[in-house]
Amino acid sequence: MRLRYGDAEEAFRAELIAWLDEHAPPRDVLESPRQSSADLPDWARDWQRKLFEAGWLVPGWPPELGGRNATASEQMIYFEVMKQREIPRSLNPQGLGIIAPSLRDAGTPEQQERWLLPTLRAEVAWCLGMSEPGAGSDLASLKTRAVLDGDHFVVNGQKVWTSGAHHADWCMCFVRTDPDVPKHKGISVLIIDMQSAGVDARPFPELTEPDYMDFNEVFFTDVSVPKEHLLGDLNQGWALTQVSLGHERAMLWIDYAYDVQRALDALVALGVQPGPDGRPLREDARFRDEVAAFHVDAQALMLMGYRGFSKFMRGRAAPEHSLLKLFGSETLQRLLLFGAESQGVDALDTEHYGPRMWREGSWITQYFRSFSGTIPGGTSEIQRNIIAERVLGLPRA
Ligand SMILES: Cc1cc2nc3c(=O)[nH]c(=O)nc-3n(C[C@H](O)[C@H](O)[C@H](O)COP(=O)(O)OP(=O)(O)OC[C@H]3O[C@@H](n4cnc5c(N)ncnc54)[C@H](O)[C@@H]3O)c2cc1C
Repeated sequence: MRLRYGDAEEAFRAELIAWLDEHAPPRDVLESPRQSSADLPDWARDWQRKLFEAGWLVPGWPPELGGRNATASEQMIYFEVMKQREIPRSLNPQGLGIIAPSLRDAGTPEQQERWLLPTLRAEVAWCLGMSEPGAGSDLASLKTRAVLDGDHFVVNGQKVWTSGAHHADWCMCFVRTDPDVPKHKGISVLIIDMQSAGVDARPFPELTEPDYMDFNEVFFTDVSVPKEHLLGDLNQGWALTQVSLGHERAMLWIDYAYDVQRALDALVALGVQPGPDGRPLREDARFRDEVAAFHVDAQALMLMGYRGFSKFMRGRAAPEHSLLKLFGSETLQRLLLFGAESQGVDALDTEHYGPRMWREGSWITQYFRSFSGTIPGGTSEIQRNIIAERVLGLPRA
């Protein structure tokens, strides 16, 4: 079997690379500090707008929405190239990756005019209000209440883990609008102005890095939200959770596959460093065995990703997405832990880091960061439940 793209797709790749060579911000700008996933410095707004105008922001969408009607294979190439080069499309990923597609699919023409284009052009930044203290994996248990009162809703409740909320202009917020029906049936989605009276976004620095405070608790106290800010139909918000979270899922594995490959390259390069016994790590039998095993895992991840993608292109269900999320995030975590353990206490030393992976920091820092990949978008345990039930046909626990 040979896996390769056709000539038309390779021409698409060449055009993208040539455009990026000419227009992408330099590396020091791309890596300049920012404070959260809704903090949009001027260069990031300019960059996203440039992508939008050139049709490289969402290539699968039509030109008026920042795309070029790219085929599924072309979109795949696009995500591969952007990941290979570590070039972000947007510095507000929840806005571009989740909220813009939800507005496109469920928004009225007025809502699209008001929010979709400004989101694509990085004129506004968003946060996503789904999780609550008692509703994470079991999102349908959410309790934030919205009561329709004349021409507006009154919202009361609390969200948590809301990335970038303290910098966001708007929140796509999941609320309970009917408490008297089964829990999946009484949920709606409201677009809430984060500057409204009664909205209090509190970042919690204890759990994040001091210079990148992304997590927030958000409290809503008698917040008035105009009726026209209801996205989709009243009490039909659950369907929107499935649509919102489903966007781009088919391509997400590329991130894991490339991160694992980069971490593996760093591990191989680490082999020349002396281990705790003074000999180069690569002379140690266990180190060699583990590196070889991780190489096999990296190849398996890539091939499984292509298999899922090929099913997706033919319109078939692709349970690989849960396998890829689970295997990708956990392989990365195991690899980083092994790299850290191999070095003993040197793992804490940023100088001992080896070649660049995707962020600065020691191996142990990278390992701690990797936990964030195993939680959002469905934790590892939830992915295992999905695989057990939907892939293997086991009964619900
Ligand atoms: C980096 C990051 C960014 C995030 N950004 C946002 C955001 O912008 N907006 C937002 O709304 N949320 C956000 N979240 C929150 C995220 O969606 C939740 O953390 C996630 O859904 C898990 O919910 P929870 O934390 O409440 O854990 P819980 O659901 O309480 O789970 C706790 C533990 O129990 C396990 N568990 C739960 N249910 C089951 C089950 N049925 N079977 C087996 N095990 C189970 C879980 O796997 C986990 O180990 C973010 C999280 C992270 C890590």
